Amino acid sequence: MARYTGPSCRLCRREGQKLYLKGDRCFSDKCTMNTRQNAPGQHGARRAKLSGYGVQLREKQKVKRYYGVLEGQFRDTYDRAEKLQGITGENLLRLLEQRFDNVVYRMGLASSRKEARQLVTHGHFTVNGKKADIPSMTLSVGDVIAVKETSRNSSKFKEVAERAVTTPKWVDVDTEKLEGKITALPVREDIDLPIEEHLIIELYSK
Ligand code: SF4
Repeated sequence: MARYTGPSCRLCRREGQKLYLKGDRCFSDKCTMNTRQNAPGQHGARRAKLSGYGVQLREKQKVKRYYGVLEGQFRDTYDRAEKLQGITGENLLRLLEQRFDNVVYRMGLASSRKEARQLVTHGHFTVNGKKADIPSMTLSVGDVIAVKETSRNSSKFKEVAERAVTTPKWVDVDTEKLEGKITALPVREDIDLPIEEHLIIELYSK
């Protein structure tokens, strides 16, 4: 599956806010947003006032970038969200949260969604005891995500086991065992990202 391979910090500059795409660096003084907040490109210093459409478009781009999803996959997720019962915007965010790579990140097993995606594609995890390496897979309540037996002794995961992380209440994480179980689907209040999902609905409803 295609993915964005360009510079991550450029995306934060485009959106004018931190998207936390680079793990620990995002929380350090080295974060580019501390020194260069203008949009990338020749005319980046001039931020034009956005039209209503522009505001909706930027919101959609921001959410795609948070979750590391390209347009086609994002649109598919939106279409699935629309068919579910309930509020489409909340369904959309819930489906994005249920992505395998996001759950790995939320469990504290990777420092960013990008790293989580890489660890998943490299086959370091199992879901319900079976090897799983598709980052976009939608996980459900009751699924057990674990670091593969042969990967547990790697320095990467030893470091994770020692690190204190705040995990979401909808995943029951055992950091010593390097595994977690999804106990509920996330509700809107559980998703701590500054997103105005109604703008995306308005954009796609045109
Ligand atoms: Fe964004 Fe992180 Fe780069 Fe800062 S370090 S600009 S938060 S990706």
